[in-house]
Amino acid sequence: MADFSRLIAATADTIAAHAEELTALDQAIGDGDHGLNMKRGFEAVRAETEGFAAKPLPEALKAVGAKLVMTVGGASGPLFGTLFLALGKEMPVEPDRAGLATALGKAIEAVAARGKSQVGQKTMLDVLQPVYEALAQGKTAEEIADAADKAADATVPMKALRGRASFLGERSVGHMDAGARSTALLVRAVAETVEGH
Ligand code: ADP
Ligand code: MG
Repeated sequence: MADFSRLIAATADTIAAHAEELTALDQAIGDGDHGLNMKRGFEAVRAETEGFAAKPLPEALKAVGAKLVMTVGGASGPLFGTLFLALGKEMPVEPDRAGLATALGKAIEAVAARGKSQVGQKTMLDVLQPVYEALAQGKTAEEIADAADKAADATVPMKALRGRASFLGERSVGHMDAGARSTALLVRAVAETVEGH
């Protein structure tokens, strides 16, 4: 497993580099705050890198989740927060691939419960689920990152049934979901960091 501080740097870097893109996506079918929300959250995590990286992996993930809940805001703050909190709760201290997949599967269930949402509703879950499947099938880090990008692209023709975009009904069709895109960015950052180690 890559050093936790490298994972924090990689995820915060990609969110910062794509904040304007995430904002533009959210402007099209939401309220345009997703880039700033995510950047605020991941910079707050970055600021605590030293303390978080000193913890065992499950505790570090829980600390990240709690920080995201407090700092991201919007609908996505509690959802990304829940993702990391649940990952921390389910993750072994030194996870192998199977342990990682099991933890992600349980974390996805926690996000779905928190969001009262499910796959197919044009949300972050539409990226998380294929990532879980690729992980469980033993795909490489690169393949998992590619699956995440493809899954984010696949939200374009979907009609939003959860979140702000759902208020637009049919008019949400033809745009990528912002949370799906940010999830794919996070997955690629983690995959590349783990792979490069
Ligand atoms: P807000 O919608 O409050 O402005 P953000 O713009 O930060 O919050 O986040 C929007 C993203 O959150 C959406 O693109 C979607 O992926 C995700 N999202 C919103 N509601 C839900 C939900 N109920 N379940 C899962 N994901 C959701
Ligand atoms: Mg928004």
